Amino acid sequence: VGSERFDMITPQPVSIAIIGMGPRGLTLLERMVENASMVALGVTITIRAYEPGVCGEGSHGSDQPDHLLVNTVSSQVTMVVPGSIAEKAGGLSFVQWARAEGYHRRGEHFVKAAGREITDFDYLPRRLLGEYLIAFHRLLLSCLPSYINFVHRRVAISDIDRSGDKFDLELADGSRETADFVFIATGHCKRRPNPNDDHFDDFVRRCHALNSRLAYFASPYPIASLASISADATVAVQGFGLTAHDIISELTAGRGGSYEPGVGGELRYLPSGKEPTIVLFSRNCLPFAARGVNQKGLTGRHKAEYFTPQAVARLRHQAAAKNGDRRLDFRKDVLPLIIKEMAYAHRKAQGKQGIDINTFEPTSEETRLINRLLWPLADHHFANYSEFVSFFDESIKADLAEASRGNLLSPIKAATEVLRDTREALRAAVEYGGLTPDSHRFFIEEFNAITNRVAFGPPKQRNHEFMALRAAGVIQIAGGPGSNCRIDESIASFQIETRFGDAIVRHRADALIIGRLDVFSPDTDNSALTRNLVKRGFIKPFVNDHYHPGGIDIDANLQPVMLDGSSLGNMWVIGYPAEGAHFYTHALPRTDIRSRQTDDAERCVLALLCTLRNAQPEKAARSTQFSQHEGYVDAAV
Ligand SMILES: Cc1cc2nc3c(=O)[nH]c(=O)nc-3n(C[C@H](O)[C@H](O)[C@H](O)COP(=O)(O)OP(=O)(O)OC[C@H]3O[C@@H](n4cnc5c(N)ncnc54)[C@H](O)[C@@H]3O)c2cc1C
Repeated sequence: VGSERFDMITPQPVSIAIIGMGPRGLTLLERMVENASMVALGVTITIRAYEPGVCGEGSHGSDQPDHLLVNTVSSQVTMVVPGSIAEKAGGLSFVQWARAEGYHRRGEHFVKAAGREITDFDYLPRRLLGEYLIAFHRLLLSCLPSYINFVHRRVAISDIDRSGDKFDLELADGSRETADFVFIATGHCKRRPNPNDDHFDDFVRRCHALNSRLAYFASPYPIASLASISADATVAVQGFGLTAHDIISELTAGRGGSYEPGVGGELRYLPSGKEPTIVLFSRNCLPFAARGVNQKGLTGRHKAEYFTPQAVARLRHQAAAKNGDRRLDFRKDVLPLIIKEMAYAHRKAQGKQGIDINTFEPTSEETRLINRLLWPLADHHFANYSEFVSFFDESIKADLAEASRGNLLSPIKAATEVLRDTREALRAAVEYGGLTPDSHRFFIEEFNAITNRVAFGPPKQRNHEFMALRAAGVIQIAGGPGSNCRIDESIASFQIETRFGDAIVRHRADALIIGRLDVFSPDTDNSALTRNLVKRGFIKPFVNDHYHPGGIDIDANLQPVMLDGSSLGNMWVIGYPAEGAHFYTHALPRTDIRSRQTDDAERCVLALLCTLRNAQPEKAARSTQFSQHEGYVDAAV
């Protein structure tokens, strides 16, 4: 308990609690460093970070195996805001830090020893990201002005109550502390077991005596938990996304398997003999597209002409005038703009000259092509399992060829990257219940999954490895579109079933792993803190009429909206727990691109400093610089 401490100056400190000191907590601290010096409040501020782990790393443990990679190229990740105090104090981007620390690449490993220089385009291990975040935390502590104390309490918070003007915090060790202001930055979560989990857990308990390999993992994290899976087991993984890639990597490279170059740029897998057989399935059973080789530089993005925040604002205006409701129908209002933007990017990447942006309309062929990218199963009927598997493998190969052409030269990759590059417009459409409830559901439960599949897939190296594992017989496709998993007590196994025409294809498995991250919801989150905040009526689920996409209900200032409908003053919720009212704000900041993570933190920190200043008007009046920042808050809200 308690590690870093600075001397206090005044006897009446203001106390700030940051609950969760992962990347989001770090950004709050960074914005405090940046803005507090402008305020000249004349009070001592004590920031207490309640964090059971090491400050900084959050979900990116610095003790993870090397084969778990960050999903963004090294040069695009940074915690440093350009021009900030932290930058002037020597803050570096992720890749600059890794080089400065003396890391080099040796084969697939990154070591503090001789080796090849790390390039801007390497995908670095998440272990190094954890170290980088810890180092950034240390740097921030060195930047704190003398009137800000920082205390790390290495313990979770399990409850918060109000006690007069203060918050009364209950720590997981049973002790209590108070705070004037609270930030909730608790990040990724663990859900309570749902009926499916109970069903599978119960099955494993009952039938374990018949099949000792039987196991169920509602989540693969911590990844070390998969060590209990034996080499002679067959493991079913539900999902094809980034979490599934973590699982595959852990059960193969993590068990001593390796790759060597094969024919024509392909890879060959050299098994260690310790890997189980992996069978994959999901609702659609479609592979995730690989990221195109980056040809846009560090900060380059598709310049949107049609799907822009301004276009969304215009649509909203029209909807309000026509229907008396500002909400948009995703399919009718928003999707046509996305398809047009993708078709435009596709045509541009073909090198076609003389595209007039004022008159551009997708041809029917272009519209068909974009629809096929988004819904590849729509025109397909698979007579049998082997037809589907050929389609699956051909899709990966064709996609890898496009990924190699690059994200500017491949018209396909240029089109799909529109979905990454226009996220601000998407947020303008979706956030704070901006869509009609039914289309909001469609967006979150259908379209977002499509977006993740076509635009947020793994580095192409991962899909090359995937094909090598397919060729080595380590990975099999367990089903096809519409597959589902059920239990079969007669053989004490899971069964993945898919119907092809009149036939049902079955794959047996000893273990089942759910390969996706939990959505945060106050209704299902497993933490004592969430349960108690709900019980006290301090937080409630964010809903868009009858639809709950996840997340805590927050107002435009990121303050929790309580059960009685009022906002809870002096408390803010930031990051993953607010995903619901917000959309896709949990990615790490990118180099030289305005970051939502920083913007959200800035807004909360300035509101806090504003409150402090208003409590001491004669001091705040002297701070003109701070007043300018207030304008920013208003504009942002
Ligand atoms: C497996 C995984 C891989 C990811 N990979 C990437 C990637 O490659 N690139 C990318 O941009 N993003 C990635 N993300 C997204 C991730 O959301 C962000 O990178 C980032 O970690 C978010 O920071 P955070 O602080 O909000 O949450 P977290 O990183 O989850 O940190 C939250 C912190 O809060 C603490 N905490 C939780 N509850 C309490 C409590 N009650 N009391 C006190 N402390 C508490 C936890 O100990 C933790 O340290 C990944 C996420 C996961 C889970």
